[in-house]
Amino acid sequence: MERGLGRLEGKAAVVTGAAKGIGRATAELFAREGARLVVTDVDADGLSALRGRLTGGGAGAAGIEAVVGDVSVPEDARAMISACAGRFGRIDVLVANAGVIPLNNVVDATPEDWDRVMAVDGRGMFLTCKYAIEEMLRQEPPGGSIVCLSSISGLAGQRDQATYGPAKFVASGLTKHLAVEWANRGIRVNAVAPGTIRTEAVRGLPEDYVAPMREAHPMGRLGEPEEVASAILFLASDEASFVTGAILPVDGGYLAQ
Ligand code: NAD
Repeated sequence: MERGLGRLEGKAAVVTGAAKGIGRATAELFAREGARLVVTDVDADGLSALRGRLTGGGAGAAGIEAVVGDVSVPEDARAMISACAGRFGRIDVLVANAGVIPLNNVVDATPEDWDRVMAVDGRGMFLTCKYAIEEMLRQEPPGGSIVCLSSISGLAGQRDQATYGPAKFVASGLTKHLAVEWANRGIRVNAVAPGTIRTEAVRGLPEDYVAPMREAHPMGRLGEPEEVASAILFLASDEASFVTGAILPVDGGYLAQ
């Protein structure tokens, strides 16, 4: 595996939802930048493929742990954080990325649709942030950095996102409130707000659905998972040492309109 600039050298990081998409690109970039990693997901096969790739290249073989679990289940969320503290002695970075992305309008959406997305994207983010912050306050020296995955849908209205959009507003709100709550204890909390990103799910959508999405982004294209991972790396790293409570658009100009 090709090495980066060591921007996370010596840091211990947890990435949730790391088996696919933005989480996987982030875990791969973090590994290249020298982080010791706990990668987590409900998808055991995807996680084990990622772990194989990250250890197979010879880099960080002793520094990668995989934890299968559901972020919406308190015991699982706690186990993800404990695995990092147990294996590496501390947690410096949490990337609260795991999420589901249902698309429906308020007429079609059922109460169960609402509960499901709020359980994973809302409660799951709350739980992983909660347990990470508890650990960050306990450790010596205390402190750490959290990056939450919001979205353009967590800052502005969209069509067909009557359940997902409000869940991403939770991500934006949690970021700002936790940033203020813990700023004086050395814990930074930021978010990225990606536009539409070419993950496997989006690449599989029909062209007549994707074309208007592409046009809606002023840069005239969709984003790549690696472009979101780069922004996450900046916010997670010490390069962003005076940045907290920020929600950084990674959206090809979408929110600038
Ligand atoms: P993805 O579906 O490619 O990956 C999400 C990962 O989370 C999967 O590996 C999945 O197994 C895992 N996951 C789902 N539910 C889980 C649970 N309960 N517990 C643990 N893991 C779980 O999605 P993605 O596009 O990479 O999205 C990642 C994050 O980025 C999400 O929070 C999403 O809201 C956000 N986001 C994505 C886009 C986009 O266009 N792809 C845009 C803005 C924001």
